[in-house]
Amino acid sequence: MTTKSMPTKLGQNFLTDPAIAEKIVDSANLSKTDNVLEIGPGQGALTELLAQKAGRVLAVEIDKALIIPLKKELNDQKNTEIITGDILKINLPKMLEENNFQNYKVVANLPYYITSKIIRLLLETKYPPTEMILMVQKEVGERICAPSGKESILSISVKFYADPEILFFVPRENFDPIPEVDSAVIRVVQKKDLSRADIKKFFSLVRAGFSSKRKMLLNNLSTSFNLPKDAVSRILKKAGLEPTQRAQELEVENWIKLNETLEKQEIEVLKGLR
Ligand code: SAM
Repeated sequence: MTTKSMPTKLGQNFLTDPAIAEKIVDSANLSKTDNVLEIGPGQGALTELLAQKAGRVLAVEIDKALIIPLKKELNDQKNTEIITGDILKINLPKMLEENNFQNYKVVANLPYYITSKIIRLLLETKYPPTEMILMVQKEVGERICAPSGKESILSISVKFYADPEILFFVPRENFDPIPEVDSAVIRVVQKKDLSRADIKKFFSLVRAGFSSKRKMLLNNLSTSFNLPKDAVSRILKKAGLEPTQRAQELEVENWIKLNETLEKQEIEVLKGLR
């Protein structure tokens, strides 16, 4: 029976429609040569299908109470290993190395209370997945895959590493218990030519650009880095940008170019500021 409730402990809203589970797993285009990491297998809505289509499956579940029924359910699936643990605390590179999972895809219906943290972890880890098929809260999916002109720190953080796209939406009625929000399934494909930018400096620039949402880039950067406006204006123009632009108008390539331009500046005051 499906019940509507308050937000659940550990984001446990289980997918109830097998056709949607199939659509999610099909989106990963799996073959028997693929390794798949699933985060939060729950009651196994996706896990069994993943086991049938992929070569090997590692599934990390935090809730010990779900593990025994899940293992029972997956009894005949010898290519699947359930690991009890918190994906944010596990030593991910070690787990991937031990399982020979340096090359893998992620397929998951993510726990929504830690979606951004998990995506960030997977993008920044030593062995990032080549591709992820993720069910996320609809609004979060839309923000990650923002169209040009509507970028945010979240969308830039993903687009620095990968190309995200919305695949389809899933209404809330397809979960038990029914959550307060609808969902979106997104595909996130790792970029082949990753920028060589210093990550810390790059994201300090992006955060500075977005520091005050309504303000122009010129003002935000000048305030954050304590630089005269005419110096910031020159840097922006050198990077092919207009000082009147706002952070949300810049695409990831613009931020990369702006970061490079800043790096090349010989302005003493910039040193140590980022
Ligand atoms: N895959 C199942 C499905 O589609 O029905 C369950 C999805 S449910 C939205 C999220 C799952 O993530 C739950 O089983 C929950 O226990 C698990 N989970 C929550 N936090 C976790 C964490 N930090 N590490 C691993 N699993 C977690």
